[in-house]
Amino acid sequence: MSRRLDEARAALKKTFGYDDFRPGQDEVIGAVLDGTDVFAVMPTGSGKSMTYQLPALVDAGLTVVVSPLIALMHDQVQQMHAFGIEAATLNSTIAETASRETWRKIRSGELRLLFVSPERLLMDGCMEALRGAGVRRLAVDEAHCVSQWGHDFRPEYREIARAREALGNVQTLALTATADAATRAEIAERLFPAGRPPRTFVHSFDRPNIRLTFQPKDNPTRQLERFLRDRRAESGIIYCSSRKRVEQLADTLKGDGFNALPYHAGLDQGTRARNQDTFLQEDGVVMTATIAFGMGINKPDVRYVCHSDMPTNIEGYYQEIGRAGRDGLPSDTLTLYGLDDMALRRRQIDEKEISEERRRVERRKLEAMIALCEGAACRRQSLLGYFGEASERCGRCDLCRGGISLIDGTVAAQKLLSAIVRTGQRFGAAYVCDVVHGKESESIRRNGHAALKTFGVGNDKPVAAWRALLRQLFAAGAVAENTDGYGGLVMTEKGEAILFGRETIEVRPDPEPKKAEPRSRRATPRDDEANALSEADEALFQHLRGLRATIARAEGIAAFMVFPDRTLIEMARAKPVDLWALRTVHGVGERKREAYGERFTDTIREFLSDAKRAG
Ligand code: ADP
Ligand code: ZN
Repeated sequence: MSRRLDEARAALKKTFGYDDFRPGQDEVIGAVLDGTDVFAVMPTGSGKSMTYQLPALVDAGLTVVVSPLIALMHDQVQQMHAFGIEAATLNSTIAETASRETWRKIRSGELRLLFVSPERLLMDGCMEALRGAGVRRLAVDEAHCVSQWGHDFRPEYREIARAREALGNVQTLALTATADAATRAEIAERLFPAGRPPRTFVHSFDRPNIRLTFQPKDNPTRQLERFLRDRRAESGIIYCSSRKRVEQLADTLKGDGFNALPYHAGLDQGTRARNQDTFLQEDGVVMTATIAFGMGINKPDVRYVCHSDMPTNIEGYYQEIGRAGRDGLPSDTLTLYGLDDMALRRRQIDEKEISEERRRVERRKLEAMIALCEGAACRRQSLLGYFGEASERCGRCDLCRGGISLIDGTVAAQKLLSAIVRTGQRFGAAYVCDVVHGKESESIRRNGHAALKTFGVGNDKPVAAWRALLRQLFAAGAVAENTDGYGGLVMTEKGEAILFGRETIEVRPDPEPKKAEPRSRRATPRDDEANALSEADEALFQHLRGLRATIARAEGIAAFMVFPDRTLIEMARAKPVDLWALRTVHGVGERKREAYGERFTDTIREFLSDAKRAG
């Protein structure tokens, strides 16, 4: 086993130019090389793909990779080609001759990786032909798509088990970045043969290089502009909840001189593909998008991900922010949220045509998202806690950096709890807050609640402050939603302890009228110690980026496929002037050294002699 793993490590260096495995990769790859079925839950950016790429290199035979989005397979194939790995995809948009060539390579055993969608796999004779040619293993990417409880259910994924059987129950590897228990159980059940449970690995969801920041919505466009101000040279994504907002924001940012592009399912195919390509290939592009954008986008140097509206659930949020900083370099996030989002999301869930059970699941997921927004403890702790992981305070999120110091909110909380109890634990947040604030609405009068002792005890604060407090009680588990499905609030045991003074609760102070915010220090790829560059090296780095862009454009591939940022940073620092010296640089494997090495070392040499002459 360990000999096989050593073999894999050697291939990692030779082909990819990486010195060692990322945490967790080795045990999964080890199990795959053992020949057992494997189910791996690993966060985005942890290098999941390597767990099938590397075994496909060191073992003979073909690996079939099932993945949900045809549009991205082309990209994955290009990436493999850049590393000199024989890979191909089959789909209807590929010319007959190209696909004939692919089949020839499959039969001759040259092809290592074949990327297909489940639909394509199940089409006319594909499986028979594959079975005839011999398949070594099946890798199922984005495996949560098979689950109803996941957030990206694809009915076609249900057919993969049939394909696995038809291929002779070959070794199967399932990969996902979605963690919750229900989804996990369903993946294990639906993708693997009955009575042959896979070896399962669930890895830490911690992404310490991603900094988490949340802000209540004030003026979202201005908040985003402020965030972007000194990030012009970086690439990032801003998620919006509607197509209209996507377009508006792209226009506004363009007006501000940003290279902003829109992306949503309402744009025609050509525009979408063009915008996606630009984002992948160029530096400094802001993609404003709906969540239609990003699944499988494997650009490693996305430096920030913003949410202009509150995400629907934590799984989605985590997956979206996970697109930042896959290269492991410092990256930022900004999530904006407001009561309007919360109400909208709730309504959307209410109006969906889904089973009541499913509706309850979605409501719970939404409440957890709200709790994260309104949280008072470290964001990373809350986020990882949701995935069942204990962790330390991160020291870098908005809350850890001391954005807020908490105050004792017990008395105020008692006012809300008392109003909930006295109105019979039947009413929603808006109603309860109106009672406390003393706003005599039509229904409050009708119900006789204006006569309650609690009515108006909180007229010293605006209704918005009461709502913010109620959200925090919710987040703290002192208040819960009634299970009857009508959204009425009930007091929990914890709430009762607070109401009767047995427990206290710390809350955020009421929001103050906005002052100008201090500039947030941005994280740049060269931000941390290990990646810091001197001024001269920074100039060389930008110079190398220019060369990279030229090559990427000429070859029609993404810039990162030439070399990722981290490689250019190391080059700028180490200044290798020949191919021998280039060998030790991160991310320079054999094929890339041959293809691009000389142009980079020439450029470095020129840069150095120019600098000498100038100095
Ligand atoms: P995931 O699918 O888990 O989100 P990917 O498989 O796309 O992540 O990998 C993210 C990036 O990390 C890719 O650019 C990949 O080449 C790189 N990578 C993978 N494994 C390693 C490693 N051991 N060392 C350095 N970089 C790695
Ligand atoms: Zn923190």
